[in-house]
Amino acid sequence: MKDRFSKVLESIPPSGIRAFFDLVQASDNVISLGVGEPDFSTPWTIREEAIYRIEKGQTTYTSNMGDPELRAAISEYQDQRFSNHYDPSTEILVTNGVSEGADLVLRSILNPGDEVIIPEPMYVCYDPLVRLAGGEVVTVNTSQSRFVPTPELIEQNITKRTKMIILCYPNNPTGMSIDQTVLEAIAKLAIRHDLWVISDEIYAELSYGKPFVSIASFPGMKERTIVLSGFSKAFAMTGWRVGYVCAEPELISRACKIHQYSALCCSSISQKAAIEALRHSRGDVKEMVESYHQRGKYFVSELNKMGLETLSPEGAFYCFPSIRKTGMDAMSFAMALLKAENVAVVPGNAFGKDGEGYIRCCYASSLSDLKEALARIQRFLSTLEK
Ligand code: PLP
Repeated sequence: MKDRFSKVLESIPPSGIRAFFDLVQASDNVISLGVGEPDFSTPWTIREEAIYRIEKGQTTYTSNMGDPELRAAISEYQDQRFSNHYDPSTEILVTNGVSEGADLVLRSILNPGDEVIIPEPMYVCYDPLVRLAGGEVVTVNTSQSRFVPTPELIEQNITKRTKMIILCYPNNPTGMSIDQTVLEAIAKLAIRHDLWVISDEIYAELSYGKPFVSIASFPGMKERTIVLSGFSKAFAMTGWRVGYVCAEPELISRACKIHQYSALCCSSISQKAAIEALRHSRGDVKEMVESYHQRGKYFVSELNKMGLETLSPEGAFYCFPSIRKTGMDAMSFAMALLKAENVAVVPGNAFGKDGEGYIRCCYASSLSDLKEALARIQRFLSTLEK
């Protein structure tokens, strides 16, 4: 048989994060600042709700669109928390995490050759998913503007083929947020050039200081914005696999068509647990956010003291230190640090070429692990100076 496998897929490398962490797993005594995952267990009331639903035998398929009670809870939550108004019966689709949501939306919208503008460094799934959906990625380098795209740079990259912009703030991998004025200017651009905007709001709850503003809430933006959100990060529910897409009905019905054939629905038990999360666990979220904020402040100030320039994170649980002063590239730095001191960080270029010269550290680790990691990084840096 010739052409046994998909050509597009062959051109896509495996995730840089996963490849690196296969190496990490082979070593002992490693402090991992690598995988972007909360270090809290899912709040107990959420776990208890799932146990109760299993006991009751509520283990069947749900509607393709998602458990109606969960869609109602999401609608209420989006309305109260972010002033986004979505009809639970036609404008909300429950998915297996934001990951599936992103895939469904891109496959519903893109035709071969359509261009998608994405600020870089970027979360690892956007580029491969755009390409698998037949689109082409156009990156906007944000490393000269505090990792936030300027509207001017975005506009310079708009062509006749541009169909969409993808935004994610607070951001993975940089931890930076976007100012409301910049977001408003990008919204105006999207309206003027008639573009879709995907807004990945998975870290919306994990915003420090500045309140989170959704681009979908601006005038004229609801009909062209696709909000992706979920439970993995804010509610410490990464393994439950629940996320959702909020958008206008025509897009939702198309995304649901793919979802009904490829996934059918999201886990019924996880959906019940997600209802409990929205209705009764928002206090737990506040405590977790405060804890990430404090740990981030400490970790970043220590990195800066040792000369690794790092911007103060404004949300999520990542920081993105520059390692330029070492003269090493990101992959060599991460490999050497792992080998010499058993500290795992992600090379910045795993998030695109403009992440070269940086590493991503996730500080959702215990304070004692963070202290030990900092001591080991300091020791590593001093050996480089010799
Ligand atoms: N979007 C961003 C920006 C992320 O950082 C992640 C996970 O790290 C995801 C989406 C995937 O989330 P989920 O677990 O909901 O699939």
